[in-house]
Amino acid sequence: MPHDNIHTCSYSCERPACIRAQRDELVQRLFELVAEAVAAEREASAKVCEAYKFAPAAEAIRARGKT
Ligand SMILES: [Zn+2]
Repeated sequence: MPHDNIHTCSYSCERPACIRAQRDELVQRLFELVAEAVAAEREASAKVCEAYKFAPAAEAIRARGKT
């Protein structure tokens, strides 16, 4: 992650470069959180399939996360 425009200021900083950097950082974190939530949901679904001895479905569900 580039830190070229980031200096030691807080989120109240109003320099355009800082606002952009902070916004990009928040968007990146949001994407990471969503990706984690999706992965967790997929793993939970796969575990349910395994619990019911339906391994092919579990593998198919996990495979969807690898595209
Ligand atoms: Zn700043």
